[in-house]
Amino acid sequence: MIVMKFGGTSVGTAQRIKNVAGLITKSKGNFVVLSAMSGTTNSLVEISDYLYNKNKEGAIDAISSLESKYAKVIRELYSTESASSKASNYVASVLDYLKTLTKQLFTSVEEKIVVAQGELISTHLMAYYLEEQGVNLCLLPALEFMKIDIQGEPNSDYIRQRLTALLEQNPGADLYLTQGFICLNHHDEIDNLQRGGSDYTASLIGAALGAEQIQIWTDIDGMHNNDPRIVEGTSAVRQLHFDEAAELGYFGAKILHPTCVQPAKFANIPVLLLNTNDPSAPGTVISNTLAHGGIKAVAAKDNITAIRIKSSRMLLAHGFLRKVFEIFESYQTSIDMICTSEVGVSMSIDNTLHLNEIVRDLKKYGTVSVDLDMCIVCVVGDMDWENVGFESRAMEAMKDIPVRMVSYGGSNYNISFLVRAEDKVAALRSLSKCLFE
Ligand code: ADP
Ligand code: ASP
Ligand code: MG
Repeated sequence: MIVMKFGGTSVGTAQRIKNVAGLITKSKGNFVVLSAMSGTTNSLVEISDYLYNKNKEGAIDAISSLESKYAKVIRELYSTESASSKASNYVASVLDYLKTLTKQLFTSVEEKIVVAQGELISTHLMAYYLEEQGVNLCLLPALEFMKIDIQGEPNSDYIRQRLTALLEQNPGADLYLTQGFICLNHHDEIDNLQRGGSDYTASLIGAALGAEQIQIWTDIDGMHNNDPRIVEGTSAVRQLHFDEAAELGYFGAKILHPTCVQPAKFANIPVLLLNTNDPSAPGTVISNTLAHGGIKAVAAKDNITAIRIKSSRMLLAHGFLRKVFEIFESYQTSIDMICTSEVGVSMSIDNTLHLNEIVRDLKKYGTVSVDLDMCIVCVVGDMDWENVGFESRAMEAMKDIPVRMVSYGGSNYNISFLVRAEDKVAALRSLSKCLFE
């Protein structure tokens, strides 16, 4: 079995839904995961904001925009009256439900239900289209098998048992279709795997079923060696190790959600990044195989804050770092980068929800300073420390850019630089020039 996940742009118009239908029916027995049509989850988040703020008019306007968007998709997608009316009824039932929320108390429980609707709609529209084409498909609701625990982590045993049972109850379908992103939480309420989380759904399903491959279909021909939205002339990397892909996903390569790597890595199932607009392009293969001795790609992660604590008295005395880390832990804030010296420690975080409390608590141990609006630029590849020359090439590329922190040696796969957000573009372009041209 192959798990095929299609992102928002891949199902973003009626024509694209038709193209995807062609791809997923080429062979039998695939397990297909769909995201919401592009823009829909953002609209649902916007509707939730209006509802939180009791702005009924704003919510109704945004719901009406969705209404026209889906009316157009339905007009263009179906050729029979019966498929078209099933789809219209389904979308109307969702939008009517959203309208009822303007009249009641809106909490995070309703918010999660609202943002789940994009994937529910896209999979229903695809299911009616495939039925119209005579495909024997089985729509398996993600809410019947995808579940997270109290920590928000997927419950792998539950997912495997439920999926296996559902497949046994529905044998022999031409294809199995489900929603990405959405799940139940430990209260059995509707929840999700965080924005961009459909990649994670695909990987969890692949691992649960021992799939042959997990294919992530998107709008580009694989992982590029730099962010194609920022740097011109980037090219696709053909092969990546899971750890390299995890570093790139975590440090900003939007094509792959970082959580998606771990289930596939442990189940040893290759992940392929493929292009819906050019299905025969080779894409990127991510596996446990490492292509030795080279820098593969560069990525950048935005919205980073650097915190430095200086203390002439206790720094690097044993137990000092523990105390510092405990402060971050007590505010559930994870640290991305860390650099130490005899007189100071610098750390970077991306979640600033508790920044004030963290700074206040750190002040017990030393002088604290904060740099806002920073960005991590990360160079990824097989950079075993015994191989020479990689660090110097990356450093050379950064020679004109003020660098606040450098981290190297944490893994064999990464050199990270912390720079000002305003220097990100220059840093990415210079790295591409020095490393790949
Ligand atoms: P989907 O909706 O299919 O999940 P995403 O928008 O999440 O698609 O990811 C695909 C986009 O990621 C591409 O269109 C591209 O602009 C962006 N991207 C950022 N960095 C990279 C990279 N290193 N390689 C490829 N794509 C990247
Ligand atoms: N639709 C969700 C989002 O936009 C999940 C995804 O596309 O992966 O974040
Ligand atoms: Mg994505």
